[in-house]
Amino acid sequence: MNSTVDVAVVGAGSAGCSAARRCAEMGLETIMLDRKPRQLVGQKVCGDEVSRSHFDATGIDYPQEAEILNTIHGADIYPPGITNEMKVRGWKEFDGWILHRLNFGQRLLNEAIRAGVTFLPECHVTGPTLKDGQVVGVKYKAKETGETRAVQAKLVVDASGLAGVVRTKVDHPLVEKQVDKNDIALCQREILHLREPLPEPNVARVFLGRRIAPSGYAWLFPRGPEEVNVGVGVTGGEGKSSPKSYLSSFKERYEVLRGSDVIESAGGAVPVRRPLMSLVADGIAFVGDSALQVNPIHGGGIGAGMRAGVILGEIAKQAIAREDTSARGLWQYNTAYLRDFGKRLASLEIFRRFLQDVGDEDIDFGFEKRVLEPEDLMRANRGDGLSLGLVDKLRRVGRSVGRPGLLIKLQRAASLMKMVSKAYAQYPSRPEMFQKWCLDVASILDEAHFT
Ligand SMILES: Cc1cc2nc3c(=O)[nH]c(=O)nc-3n(C[C@H](O)[C@H](O)[C@H](O)COP(=O)(O)OP(=O)(O)OC[C@H]3O[C@@H](n4cnc5c(N)ncnc54)[C@H](O)[C@@H]3O)c2cc1C
Repeated sequence: MNSTVDVAVVGAGSAGCSAARRCAEMGLETIMLDRKPRQLVGQKVCGDEVSRSHFDATGIDYPQEAEILNTIHGADIYPPGITNEMKVRGWKEFDGWILHRLNFGQRLLNEAIRAGVTFLPECHVTGPTLKDGQVVGVKYKAKETGETRAVQAKLVVDASGLAGVVRTKVDHPLVEKQVDKNDIALCQREILHLREPLPEPNVARVFLGRRIAPSGYAWLFPRGPEEVNVGVGVTGGEGKSSPKSYLSSFKERYEVLRGSDVIESAGGAVPVRRPLMSLVADGIAFVGDSALQVNPIHGGGIGAGMRAGVILGEIAKQAIAREDTSARGLWQYNTAYLRDFGKRLASLEIFRRFLQDVGDEDIDFGFEKRVLEPEDLMRANRGDGLSLGLVDKLRRVGRSVGRPGLLIKLQRAASLMKMVSKAYAQYPSRPEMFQKWCLDVASILDEAHFT
């Protein structure tokens, strides 16, 4: 290996492997470091659900047999009362798989290595090395020898997950080092064996409402007719019980889970806001959870990070060929990701705030009277925003008699989602316009409160 490689990717999760593989495919000399031993790469506390649409968008092969625990066709979305659920069927975005996470992660790693990536397992990265404010490599501790070493790279990719082990140590006006705790969901996830088989074992279930998970959500993803991946994610934390205790009450309240046997139980955390405002700085780029590339409604980040990795690989190639891996040289990664998929994630942050702020009774009412419709969720999820036409509005006004506040809030959310989508579609083409753009987005988000 040369003393300076083209690209050093920190973290071999789904985002890191996708980025590293694409860089290597583009002919870049790429190394990837992970603190885990090779055989554990891919293991992660997760809901394990991934939509087919991400594979279609990236060209990454669909999961194969040993990587699949179950296939998913549709979702049921439950309000806090756990009745009057919305049945979403026939929408491609909701169809996909429940993964065998380790096998899937191993496949992504093997594909990266086959493409030419040099993988360094059991290397704990401690931070960046810097020269004149530009990231020029990373420092790491190799478990085998206990030595601290450094690798120099024209581009460092932080794909270390929510920890952001490099990002949090870079002082740069473009880098958001800290993430607000209200934008992180603390989760408890269990694998359960049910007393009785599920009636629809290929349908995912998502549960909304404060009673179930304050400022968060719960999920049930079937791994088969009698085995499920169940969890609760709670944001904020202050004055709230632990996600573990919310999960335990949820299991009591939801009949299907009562009396089930716990096979595995573990905690985790996931960001639930729009992606980082800039995905690049001088000598560095961010992908996956490190870049907060996660669906803010349900915390799904496998696909969002894979999409970013593939885009970044192509832009890294051009930047390195031009010998310019400054923020300006890498800027196209910002525009390519944030004007397109990032726009969708940002508008979903507004929808998340809407769902969090309206009370349980309003959500129950909205589901019962169909003031909220499956189409709303699907359009929001696709990034199309919520557009309530005149006929649609009149229909819903009729249904929301006695509780007009909910419809007014829904309309306000729809309009803010549209505004944020528009702002992201106009993501600045040059760094000079970045600060002004951030202020514009902040002023839209300041309005996004629905209590
Ligand atoms: C409970 C829970 C449920 C979820 N459910 C879903 C779901 O159903 N569907 C979905 O799409 N997403 C889900 N997510 C989110 C999803 O798991 C993440 O978005 C996704 O795994 C992020 O991938 P990543 O590659 O960015 O990070 P990670 O998968 O976290 O990978 C980061 C890698 O970096 C390595 N690393 C960390 N620190 C260092 C260091 N100092 N040195 C070297 N290596 C380091 C780690 O070992 C790891 O291999 C869930 C998350 C949680 C917590």
